[in-house]
Amino acid sequence: MEFYKNVENLSEDNKKVFRIIMRFGPITKKKIIKYTNMKLTTLNRSMAVLIKYKLIIEIGEQESTGGRKPALFDVNQVEYYFVGIDISRTYSKVILSNLKREILYEEEFKMEQDMTPNKTVANIKEIFYKGLNTLKISKDKIAGGGLGTIGPLDSNKGIIFKPNNFYAKGWNNVPIKEMLENALEMEIIIDNGANTAVYAEYLSDSLVEYTNIVYVNCGIGIRMGVIANGKIIPTINNANDAFGHMVVNYDGEPCYCGKFGCVECYASILSIVKKYISYIKLGKVTTIEKHIDDITFNDIIRASEKGEILANEVLEFSAKILGIGLVNYVSLVNPQKVILSGPIINSSKIFYNYLLNSIRKYIVRDENNIRFVKGGDYKDNAIALGAAQLFIKEKL
Ligand SMILES: [Zn+2]
Repeated sequence: MEFYKNVENLSEDNKKVFRIIMRFGPITKKKIIKYTNMKLTTLNRSMAVLIKYKLIIEIGEQESTGGRKPALFDVNQVEYYFVGIDISRTYSKVILSNLKREILYEEEFKMEQDMTPNKTVANIKEIFYKGLNTLKISKDKIAGGGLGTIGPLDSNKGIIFKPNNFYAKGWNNVPIKEMLENALEMEIIIDNGANTAVYAEYLSDSLVEYTNIVYVNCGIGIRMGVIANGKIIPTINNANDAFGHMVVNYDGEPCYCGKFGCVECYASILSIVKKYISYIKLGKVTTIEKHIDDITFNDIIRASEKGEILANEVLEFSAKILGIGLVNYVSLVNPQKVILSGPIINSSKIFYNYLLNSIRKYIVRDENNIRFVKGGDYKDNAIALGAAQLFIKEKL
C-alpha cells in the first residue's frame, strides 16, 4: 500500500515535523520551528516530502492584523484512513478515522455469550465494510488500524489470554491480531483498551497542558491506563487491572485474584449486584419486582433513580471505596488529570456524585489541583480511536 511505501521513505526529521503538525495543526511554519528548533531550510525540505506523500496539506492563511498572512498547514484528512477496534466485555466497537482524529463512522454490537472470537471478528468485518460503503471510501485508502481490548494479553504476538469475567465464549488464548489481519487484510496493532483510551485523551489535549493522565474505566471490572511524562506506562502482561486489585480493606472478602478486600470487590458491576442481593437476604427492603437471581446492575441503577434507599446505600458504599482507592493511587503517581469513565460512571449520575464526595472527603489539600473529569473528550470512542492512533504512532 502507498501509505507503507511513503512512510518507509520518511526520515526522522520528516516524522518529527509530521507529529507536530498532526498534534497541533492547523499550524504555521513559525510555530513548527518553535517546537522543533529546526532551521527553516530543513523544515521546508521535510514539509515538501510530507506534501508529496499527501500526509500534510496547506490549508489557507491565518488571520492577520496586517502584513503578509502566514500559511497554515495541517494533516491531509482525505488521503489515508484508519480502523479502530474496541473489544470489551459488554460490547465491541468499530470506528473509521482519519489523520485528524475525526470519527467518521462508528458502530457497536453487544458481546452476548455466543459472541465467540470467530463471530466477533466476522461482525467487525461486516461493520468495517458497511462503514467503507457509507463513507464511499475505497478499501485501499485504509492504511491499517489498532485494537484496544481486555487483558491479560501479549501485545507483540497479538494474543488475548483468558480474561476474567468475560461472558462471551471461547476467549482463551485467542490470536486476535492474526484473526483481524486475515479478515480485514491489513496490519492491526493491539494493546490494552485502557492504554489506547488514555492515549486518545492525551492527544486530544492540544495545549499539552496534561502530560500525566490517569484513565479509569469502571464496569464489570476496573481497568486503568496511565500516561506519565507523555508515555504510556506498561503493566505486567498488559493486564491493566492492577488498580482494581489494590487492597483497600485488610479484613475484606476474598477476591478472584487470590487477595482479599480489593477495590474491585466493592466497585464493579458484579460486586454492586452481589452486595445488593446480600442485603435483600439480610431482610432489607427492595422495590425491584424480580426474582433475586434475576436482578441486574441496570435494575439497581433504576431503583436508585427512583429514590430507593437500599440501591442508594449500595451505590454510595461502592463509590466511597472506589474514591478511597483513587485517592491512595493519585497520592502515589500525582497525575494532573483523572478521567473517570465506563458503564458504572456513565450510567449513574448518583454513583458519580457519591464518588466525587468520597474523593473530596479523603483527598488532602495539596492534591486539590488534580482534575477529576467524567468521560473524557472522546467518551465511548476513546478505546477504539486511541487504538487507531497507536497504529499511526507506531508507523510515524
Ligand atoms: Zn483482587
